[in-house]
Amino acid sequence: MESKEKSRSEKIMDIVTKRGFIYPSSEIYGSKAGFWTYGSLGTKIKHKWENLWKSYFLSLNTNFYEIDDCSIMPKKVFESSGHLKNFTDPLTECEKCHFRFRADQLIEDELKIDVAGLKEDALTKLIRDNKLKCPKCKGNLIDVRFFNMMFDIKVGATGDDIMYLRPESAQSPYLAFKREFEATRRKLPLGLAVIGRVFRNEISPRQGFFRLREFIQAELQIFFDPEKINEHQNWNEVKDYSLIVFSDKKTRKLTCKEMKDKLKFPKFYIYHMAKVQQFYLDILKIPEKIFRFRELGPDERAFYNKIHFDVELNLETLGGFKEVAGCHYRTDHDLGGHQLGSGEKLEVTLDEEGKVKKFIPHVLELSFGTDRNIWALLDTFYKEEKERNLFTFPNNLTPLDVVVFPLVNKENIPEFAEKVFLELFKEGFTIFYDDSGSIGRRYRRQDEIGTKFCITVDFDSLKDNTVTVRDRDSMKQIRIKSGELKLKLNSLIKENKELSTFGNYI
Ligand code: ATP
Repeated sequence: MESKEKSRSEKIMDIVTKRGFIYPSSEIYGSKAGFWTYGSLGTKIKHKWENLWKSYFLSLNTNFYEIDDCSIMPKKVFESSGHLKNFTDPLTECEKCHFRFRADQLIEDELKIDVAGLKEDALTKLIRDNKLKCPKCKGNLIDVRFFNMMFDIKVGATGDDIMYLRPESAQSPYLAFKREFEATRRKLPLGLAVIGRVFRNEISPRQGFFRLREFIQAELQIFFDPEKINEHQNWNEVKDYSLIVFSDKKTRKLTCKEMKDKLKFPKFYIYHMAKVQQFYLDILKIPEKIFRFRELGPDERAFYNKIHFDVELNLETLGGFKEVAGCHYRTDHDLGGHQLGSGEKLEVTLDEEGKVKKFIPHVLELSFGTDRNIWALLDTFYKEEKERNLFTFPNNLTPLDVVVFPLVNKENIPEFAEKVFLELFKEGFTIFYDDSGSIGRRYRRQDEIGTKFCITVDFDSLKDNTVTVRDRDSMKQIRIKSGELKLKLNSLIKENKELSTFGNYI
């Protein structure tokens, strides 16, 4: 029988589940769609991504901070935020097999049209007019209704107290705003970042690791004075920088100045778009050709978002540009809603050179899904070559910086290799020791997980204290004195130096 070639997505999934990046949660009991475990390698790359995110975004302003909060919150929070009423997706169900589908996705997949913003009746009409059936068993589909995506839980012994798992990390900074504004000496803009788990009862969590029911968001909420939306102290730094923008069905490069002068977007918003793009292109090394900002029109964006651009990456495994992050100008919707709902005053009073102003700060939200970004890295950096598959992660994102191999497990080679390993381990490199299988197979295993450098201790090491260092991408090797490894590896990894800087290829 002819065996079907695996898709890129299946091939990546095979590697990452087998090698301990990610795998279905509670797997030995049969897992539920949308719940995943980060394994030992996945956790390393996740931490690296999150640390890069934190150090980059928190350094944009000295008044930006990180907070951490509970995932379970009272019902009133979501009454005020509007989630109880509006956090819904359109649902339809097969009358025969009772499988449930997201109606908008089903229609878009079948009819190849954009149905964003359509109400229940319009979606049901499209199903009826086009005689759409259940994709699984061809049964009839029921009328579309909206389904709330929040998970509720019973708290306490009586179970009377219903609370909710937060569906976005954003609520935490809004609830913390009053205290943090006081604690950080009453200055705006104030940025509060959270990296934390959030929960959405997605109707059909498809696309493997892209649409999850429990996932991680890295979000920065920037509270600012709306009268100052047309200024930013570091504007000159970005004004000539070109943004890659998809709107009116075409992709264009527009400088920040053009975004301001021609398209009339405010400086405060554009500055942060530039910083988000630079994070993707300069820090994560995402190729420019797969990056774009997509503007969402009034029908697509939440009613409180006055300006909304998503960051989209063109991912081969998902068949095109997909959302991985968003920049949302949410006005005073959040603090205003919580002021009304809680009865607490969330407006601020500022005295600016004798002029006293009272207002509710507006919010610019930079919102990233950690998991989607991790999948995007796996997709972007996965390469197939004639004799090997590899991840060509940039140095700041490799799960393992270095691996140490003893060529053979005899003579004094293992002792020498263990010493090298321990010294580098103590130095803080992410590192692994592998002494099983042929050297060729060990190299392939490390290439497959994206390890940047492989160090081999061989017979010559015992004579002259040198080891071979092999680069993942070029597969070239040089010899380095074992005593100089720390210094030279640091420079190779942190400064992205070429291996040939430190010796001739052998
Ligand atoms: P989508 O349109 O794909 O459902 P969204 O517009 O609802 O996403 P936001 O509410 O803006 O997403 O959430 C911010 C970020 O959180 C998204 O850009 C994405 O990276 C991530 N995210 C949202 N939903 C999921 C999910 N179900 N699984 C994984 N990540 C998600």
